[in-house]
Amino acid sequence: MEIKAIRGFNDILPDEIGKWQFVEKTAREVFEGFGYSEIRIPILERTELFSRGIGEATDIVEKEMYTFSDRSGNSLTLRPEATASMARAYLEHQLYNIESIAKLYCIGPMFRYERPQKGRYRQFYQIDAEVFGVGNPMVDAELIIMLIHFLNSVGLEKLELQLNTLGDRACRPQYREGLRKYLEGKAFQLCEDCKRRLETNPLRVLDCKVETCKQAIADAPKVTDFICSECQKHFDSLKEYLETAGLAYILNPRMVRGLDYYTRTAFEVVSYQLGSQNAVAGGGRYDNLFQEIGGKEIPGIGFAIGMERLISLLPEGKQFVKHPDLFIAALGEAPSKEAYRIVNQLHLEGIRAELDYEGKSLKSQMRRADKLKARYTLILGEEELKRGRAVLRNMENKSQEEIPLQDLIDSLRKKSFQIEQSGL
Ligand code: AMP
Repeated sequence: MEIKAIRGFNDILPDEIGKWQFVEKTAREVFEGFGYSEIRIPILERTELFSRGIGEATDIVEKEMYTFSDRSGNSLTLRPEATASMARAYLEHQLYNIESIAKLYCIGPMFRYERPQKGRYRQFYQIDAEVFGVGNPMVDAELIIMLIHFLNSVGLEKLELQLNTLGDRACRPQYREGLRKYLEGKAFQLCEDCKRRLETNPLRVLDCKVETCKQAIADAPKVTDFICSECQKHFDSLKEYLETAGLAYILNPRMVRGLDYYTRTAFEVVSYQLGSQNAVAGGGRYDNLFQEIGGKEIPGIGFAIGMERLISLLPEGKQFVKHPDLFIAALGEAPSKEAYRIVNQLHLEGIRAELDYEGKSLKSQMRRADKLKARYTLILGEEELKRGRAVLRNMENKSQEEIPLQDLIDSLRKKSFQIEQSGL
């Protein structure tokens, strides 16, 4: 039986990879311009990092983690998100001793045992950015501005920034209780999951997609009716900073996000072109996460962008697939050897060049050059080679010229190839 990939795990094939590389390159450029440094963290962590960090009563920890015992009996989990691991690395390597504020980003796969559908996979990629060590709402605004700027830089428009506050340790318990009391009166309308959530995590009911639950929360109290003056001040300043920067947002008092560690700021970037899984990115502040995982009190804020969703939104028409700059069609033994020598030299010069390995006819070599969408073809026959020359054909306008072989690289460069000097 042919072995297939696991459900919800995708291959990213060569004809799609140009988009991924473009997005990753742009993220690195934009984020580094904002003062962020890349960090790479393991894909596997001890399970308790996530159960304590993300929260026992979240969907992720309750039912979506890939958890298993290793051969020594340790419980390990494939990371479902990156923030907890980044916070762990920051504590473990005492990065706060180097500089109290750390701006970090990371790109890589995450794993959640969710029901696969369009825009939702079991292995999916995220671009994460986090700022540790500062609680000032100015940083919340700066991070959100960077996110929107990045999404615009890759060509995404018509996005909606949704904003909410979730309160903090001082005021969230009151909201939780207020919401629980309200929902108790509506329990008959709630799905089985939400009946359970009523006790464990009533805020999650606000996020439920079941129609009767949506109806039940229609008149639910809002977090903004409960938050303390400190949280209100933080929220007001954030809104002001965003307005000063000319960034439009809409308030969504129902947005709770799926992870328990959020405090105060929560945000999502939504695209209505995406269908039901419409969040391209989400994030928020988490001023208690570090304590949950055994550290001191360190404030933090961050976001994660879903790369598959982002890539599905990229505008059409941009050229992502790379084609050869040159194809060498050689006829005969000596020209074929010369073609091999030239191609190697071009590769060392950073020029994308291809040749025929199978001794095919000129016609079929030209067909392959066409298929590969090579920009130029060098036609090399016995006669030309003896004179140290070859025919260079522009595959787009079909014009041809004979050039001395020793001038090949110069000729290609003059034709405005994007060649990176290799220093050879
Ligand atoms: P979260 O880590 O849940 O806050 O999600 C942040 C972003 O990651 C979301 O806005 C999505 O774009 C993306 N995302 C989350 N879960 C999945 C999934 N199962 N498949 C694909 N993308 C996802």
